[in-house]
Amino acid sequence: MRRPLIAGNWKMNGTKAEATDLLNGIKAGVAGMQKVDVAVCPPFPYLYIAQDLLAESAIAWGSQDVSQEPGGAFTGQVSAAMLKDFGCRYAIIGHSERRQFNGETDALIARKYAQAVSNGLVPILCVGETLEERESGKTEAVVAKHIDGVLDAEGVDAFAHGVVAYEPVWAIGTGVTATPAQAQEVHAFLRQRIASKSKQIADGLRILYGGSMKPGNAAELIAQADIDGGLIGGASLKAADFIAICRAGEDNA
Ligand code: PEP
Repeated sequence: MRRPLIAGNWKMNGTKAEATDLLNGIKAGVAGMQKVDVAVCPPFPYLYIAQDLLAESAIAWGSQDVSQEPGGAFTGQVSAAMLKDFGCRYAIIGHSERRQFNGETDALIARKYAQAVSNGLVPILCVGETLEERESGKTEAVVAKHIDGVLDAEGVDAFAHGVVAYEPVWAIGTGVTATPAQAQEVHAFLRQRIASKSKQIADGLRILYGGSMKPGNAAELIAQADIDGGLIGGASLKAADFIAICRAGEDNA
């Protein structure tokens, strides 16, 4: 049985004061939930606030990226070991915004994934197609390529230590959500791709949906057989909305 995971991706938002308020609000709101795993991924400078405020709670925290290098002369990068030092459990890898705005390739993302795993972080590997790719019937080919980047470089065992997030690019931050059937179809495809190498690892792999998940649509998405939670952008910045989505995960567990 896969435990649902609800993870908030704050992106480049907030101040110290806002991060503190949001974390305190989430902490109070999810206290008592026992069947759902909850995580927040604030910007790098605010990770210490998560470490301070969440240390005694069941809420985990993580980063939005990690360097592909272990350390050294890589100006501006943050290593997996540093993230561990700040208590991170998760690291989002290969988000579509990093693919689009930072030119990240599948090969680079596979190296980041490996760095995360070898340092004891749980990578959340994001995959997903653009609207143009969906409309030209390329959804499966695109998400297969994203998954195969890690599968080919690191082998199927790497997926025993990670989480996948299916995030259709056309649904991120747009208010347009994939229907439960559209999302389920891609999640089943992704699980099958991993199962072709190891059914056991595929059965245990959490595949999250991301793309305008909100309190009003979370329950029906998470109720799908192959949807094991959500990666939440905009709605993770409002404590009440994020808590409501966590509640949907708790109730569907
Ligand atoms: C995301 O960027 O990971 C995301 C899912 O964003 P949103 O929920 O705002 O669509």
